[in-house]
Amino acid sequence: MAYLINCPFCGPRPSDEFYIKGDASKQRPETIGDGTLDTWHDYVHIRENVRGRMAEHWHHTGGCRQWLVVERDTVSHEIYAVTPASKWKGSSTPARKTTGRKTTARKTPARKAVRGAKT
Ligand SMILES: [Zn+2]
Repeated sequence: MAYLINCPFCGPRPSDEFYIKGDASKQRPETIGDGTLDTWHDYVHIRENVRGRMAEHWHHTGGCRQWLVVERDTVSHEIYAVTPASKWKGSSTPARKTTGRKTTARKTPARKAVRGAKT
């Protein structure tokens, strides 16, 4: 289902022109030190599949090629705000709850078994 995204540079454009990159709430780790590998793993690979309002990175691939932060409802696709990523200072909505759970995906033997089965 295509819908319109109001690009700050191009105006209203069909969502088909954009590439969605996902959760914009992740903060890049600042330091290298103890526990860094898990911190970077979470930053690069772990994303929550939010049902409802969230901020996401979108790339206007079929237009100005700018990175944007689109705040939208993932269920209704209602868009609340579109901001150039370089100017985004955080969500205009209250922070959503996070589960605070840690992943064990890198240590799960089942993933290795699946990888081995494909080769
Ligand atoms: Zn654009």
